[in-house]
Amino acid sequence: MIKLKLYNTLSRELENFESIHPNKVGIYVCGPTVYGAPHLGHVRGPIVFDVLRRLLDSLNYKVRFVKNITDVGHLVGDADEGEDKLQKQAKIEQIEPMEIAQIYTDMYNNVMDKMNILRPSIEPKASGHIIEQIELIQEIIEKGYAYHVNGSVYFDVDSYNKKYPYGELSGRIIEDLVAGAATQNRTLDGQEEKRNPHDFALWKKASPEHLMQWTSPWGKGFPGWHIECSAMSVKYLGKHFDIHGGGMDLLFPHHECEIAQCKASNDVNPANYWIHHNMVTINGQKMAKSLNNGIKVEELFDGNHDLLSRGFSPEVLRFSVLQAHYRSTLDFSEDALIAAEKGLKRLEFAESLLDKLEAKSNNTTTVTDLDESIEKALLDDLNTPIVIAQLFELARRINLVNDGNEEFSSQTIEQAKSIFKKYFRGILGIKPLSSESSDMLNQVIEFLINIRKTAKMEKNYPLSDQIRIYLQSIGIELMDSKEGTNWKFN
Ligand SMILES: [Zn+2]
Repeated sequence: MIKLKLYNTLSRELENFESIHPNKVGIYVCGPTVYGAPHLGHVRGPIVFDVLRRLLDSLNYKVRFVKNITDVGHLVGDADEGEDKLQKQAKIEQIEPMEIAQIYTDMYNNVMDKMNILRPSIEPKASGHIIEQIELIQEIIEKGYAYHVNGSVYFDVDSYNKKYPYGELSGRIIEDLVAGAATQNRTLDGQEEKRNPHDFALWKKASPEHLMQWTSPWGKGFPGWHIECSAMSVKYLGKHFDIHGGGMDLLFPHHECEIAQCKASNDVNPANYWIHHNMVTINGQKMAKSLNNGIKVEELFDGNHDLLSRGFSPEVLRFSVLQAHYRSTLDFSEDALIAAEKGLKRLEFAESLLDKLEAKSNNTTTVTDLDESIEKALLDDLNTPIVIAQLFELARRINLVNDGNEEFSSQTIEQAKSIFKKYFRGILGIKPLSSESSDMLNQVIEFLINIRKTAKMEKNYPLSDQIRIYLQSIGIELMDSKEGTNWKFN
């Protein structure tokens, strides 16, 4: 049997995946900072790690999938300076920071549901784990890798680096960091308190007007951004778990700091495999406020954005994300989305033909090679573009059979159905296109058929004719037989 291989950022190599405990996998993925509506930059990670989770499920692992919600401590500058992102938004919207967190957590999860992303096994919030974070900071101080200054606590990178290599994940070395920090503005908030400019905050003293603050051994304050992920991953997955995931933008400083915090307190890198997905661009450009190209996910669904002439369904979005390998950059454009939609419809159509094909028993074409190559591609570091290419090849063969140019045995038809079910619907997680609206249409037509049946029984022929003629006028034909009434598109 072929083994699952994953690219580990830590070793910079493709490695065979081995779980720490037999048949169990613990995954921690850095979740959203909930202060705004999710945009296209937020969808790739969840889709990629959802496919990984579904793949591990299919390999009979019991997966515990933890994804946090950052609702405190993530500052506007993405480092130790600036205002808390939620607090800033709360002031703009003039509501409580926790209301901001609730509104945008709900919005985020709503978008995740639409894209058929399985909810995490555990979804811990930073604000609900202040005690765990304080305890972890205390441990790091006791071990000698952090220091307290004037109500704030900083991680002592130099003293850590004497025992552990700081920068092992990102490949950055202390000398570079020192040079980089020297060019920074030394008057930035808290910089003058640090022993070294590359030290980072574990706990920050809060000014009286700061909205979110808690009592700690160092006075009133709030946690740094990196400490929550160390505290919560260890709490729910143990000191040493299997997979830690996130975007490449989190590699440094966030994940580097997570490793340092965990090693400083537990003497072990928290995760065996560090998996990072690449970033997204819009029409070939990075997303930026000045370019007005930050498309929100809901805007993509309803087409309400200057860069779009119409909306695209969540299935199309999910499919288009999986058309690129997760370690390559992914470019969104309207043309790419239209192409993805066409491709998706082609696959769905081929899938629907399988119910109508007539099985033959001689000289039939097989699909076993595709079954094998799809599994192989998935196990090869989640190579979803190859999986999709093989699904298109399957669709091509189905069309040949449908056109009478080739033949399938009944066994092959069943195998083709199971490929769609297991890989296309199951692991890639693509729901039928607008299944909701076609379900509703079905129900409405069935309802009209029942009214017509009652009308006929009551000899109300004008009404029964009216229903039939109306449906015909919108392209739906009713077919009466002894068994009842069926319908089809005309
Ligand atoms: Zn994190």
